[in-house]
Order: sequence, then structure tokens, then C-alpha cells
Amino acid sequence: MFIGHFAVGFAAKRVAPRASLGALIAAPLLLDLLWPIFLLTGLESVRIDPGNTAFTPLDLHDYPYTHSLVGALGWSLLAAALFWGVTRYRRGAWVIAAGVFSHWVLDFVTHRPDMPLYPGGATLVGLGLWNSRVATIIVEVAIFAAAVWLYARTTQARSRSGALALWSLVALLLVLYAGNAFGPPPPSERMIAIAGLAGWIFIPWAWWIDRNRAVVPAVAPQRAASV
Ligand SMILES: [Zn+2]
Repeated sequence: MFIGHFAVGFAAKRVAPRASLGALIAAPLLLDLLWPIFLLTGLESVRIDPGNTAFTPLDLHDYPYTHSLVGALGWSLLAAALFWGVTRYRRGAWVIAAGVFSHWVLDFVTHRPDMPLYPGGATLVGLGLWNSRVATIIVEVAIFAAAVWLYARTTQARSRSGALALWSLVALLLVLYAGNAFGPPPPSERMIAIAGLAGWIFIPWAWWIDRNRAVVPAVAPQRAASV
């Protein structure tokens, strides 16, 4: 999944309105943000294998630290603790934990059975939505559209930048997604890692969106003025 993970971050703003969209999007992306680092250090690896599933040309045969069930739980706890330590926003920390873990759940639905339960475990799981390109696109675009709609209703632009920053990100993600779905396979394993590292740019971008948008009063009622 790709834009499906972003969907979780956008929708989370409704549940934890005081958390920045930067953190809320970093959470569901986290496993895929760590993955290129693990690829480059050689702790995990990937093979290019066109036709591995209908949707992806990647053979995800070795990613025990970022994408095992136990790994995902560990990263969830770590991210939530870090968020809580910085913000003391307890509800936000729960949402961050759930967001990080949602990555594993959504990947479990989409990947063929290549996801280990724990590092070194022989049992591999995955429901294989990726075996159908059409079903993948319908499901992923639907949840992405619903989540962006929810975020756009939960917040309002404070300035032109607040609208521009949001809709340019949405447009870019859809273009990248189309490239993923219909473009050629990546040229090398190394390029996969480098493109993956570029994904970190979405965190400051989401933070910038959030700074230029305000939560609507219906979601976060303003305290009555005391005088
Ligand atoms: Zn993933």
C-alpha cells in the first residue's frame, strides 16, 4: 500500500486534532520510511521480480525488522513513547501507536503471504489484495479520497498556503501512485531504497500543511472567553 497509509494519517486528525498532521502521517508511513534505511544497511533486502503480484514488481522476501508483526508492535510503542515524551498529549500518543501499527494491518491485507510474524519466523502471512490491480486501486483510492475529504472538513485553510500545500500534496501522491500502478518496475534495488528515502520529505510537507490550517471549531470548540 502507498496512498492507503497516507489515508490513515489524514483521517487521524479527526481523532487527535491537537497532533500535527506531520506526526499523524509519519506514523502510518514509519515502517516504509525505515525500510530504505534497513535496505541500505543490508539488514533487509528486496528483489525486483516483475509479476510477483499483479500490482507490484517487488519480491519482499526479507524485511523482518520493519515489517514483521512483532517489529511493527515494537515500532508502534517506540513512536508513541517518543511522541508522548515530546508533546504529553496522551490521546495523540495512542493515535500514533495505532497509526504505526495500521501499516502492518494494511500491508497484511495487500501483500501476498510474505510478512513474517517475528524476525526469523517461518510463518508468512498476507491476504494478497495485490493479486488484483483493479481491486487494489479501487480500495486504496476510495480510502484515500474519504480520508482527504475528512481532513479537509476537520480543518480549514488559514491562508492560501493552507489550501495550496494540501492539494498539491494530494495531487503529487495521486501522480506517484499512478506511476507505481502503471509505470515500469524500478531500475535497481538501490533505486528503490533511494526513492524510499525521498519519502521522508512528506513529513515536513504534512507539518507545513497543518501549520497553515486550523481545526474547525466543531471539532475543537474554542474555550468561551473568560471576560
Ligand atoms: Zn510497508
